[in-house]
Amino acid sequence: MKNICVFCGSSPGADPAYLQMANKLGREIAARGLGLVYGSSNLGLMGEVAKGALLGSAPVVGVLPKVFDGRVQHPDLTELIVTDTMHQRKAKMFEISDGFIALPGGFGTFEELLEILTWSQIGYSSKPCGILNVNGYYDELLKFFDRSVEMRFVKQEHRDAIIVDTDPKKILDKFEKYKPVIIDKWIDK
Ligand code: AMP
Repeated sequence: MKNICVFCGSSPGADPAYLQMANKLGREIAARGLGLVYGSSNLGLMGEVAKGALLGSAPVVGVLPKVFDGRVQHPDLTELIVTDTMHQRKAKMFEISDGFIALPGGFGTFEELLEILTWSQIGYSSKPCGILNVNGYYDELLKFFDRSVEMRFVKQEHRDAIIVDTDPKKILDKFEKYKPVIIDKWIDK
């Protein structure tokens, strides 16, 4: 493992625990000698995860689509990669990262997380993906994932492959041991 990609809110959210956890995750990535890959903004949880990682002297790579035009870009990035489109940006983040963690966030975060989960279940990604469930933020989404298994749209094995914890250390420990699920995606063909 070299780089961890973090998906998270570009807003701080209503609970101060979200910002604290973003900072803690950044520091934990640095403490393990890993690098951070993220969306390059200095806003909300995004800025805070970068701040934590930089505090621990981790390399921080920001991947930004042209559309954001450097307006909200973090000033202290180790490296900035600018892509033409949002899709190229996500492809680049995927290419240079070895694992993915979602902190609390909004639609942008959900979209990034769900894309990695989608790629995992069709074998396009064999990289681990985790959710840092700060103060139960993702409880309802996780319940909905369970419902999708119950209703036979998602395989239990693919649901179980999502690493969920409240402690960044435990998520990163589990990443080290992660084995991708290699089974067919489809149910009741
Ligand atoms: P959201 O959860 O809707 O705030 O979106 C956050 C996610 O979308 C992040 O993980 C980023 O990759 C991307 N994103 C959203 N807003 C920005 C921004 N201002 N600058 C860079 N990336 C952003």
